Amino acid sequence: MTIDETFDAEILVESSVDPVCESPVDPDEAYEHELTATFADREYLFCSIDCKREFERKPTAYAVAGRSQP
Ligand SMILES: [Zn+2]
Repeated sequence: MTIDETFDAEILVESSVDPVCESPVDPDEAYEHELTATFADREYLFCSIDCKREFERKPTAYAVAGRSQP
């Protein structure tokens, strides 16, 4: 029995970019400080509370910027 089974952090890294300032975000720190927000069934991580507040102020301005959908 192993505790750390298949927790692959590398998969998460790609999506762990602050959508506001586009800085890479450490998921562990983001969750620890609750620098996360969910919008349109997607979760976003932030480098700081300022970026989180900015995102929550106008989520559509940042949420659509990342990836275009077909
Ligand atoms: Zn930021």
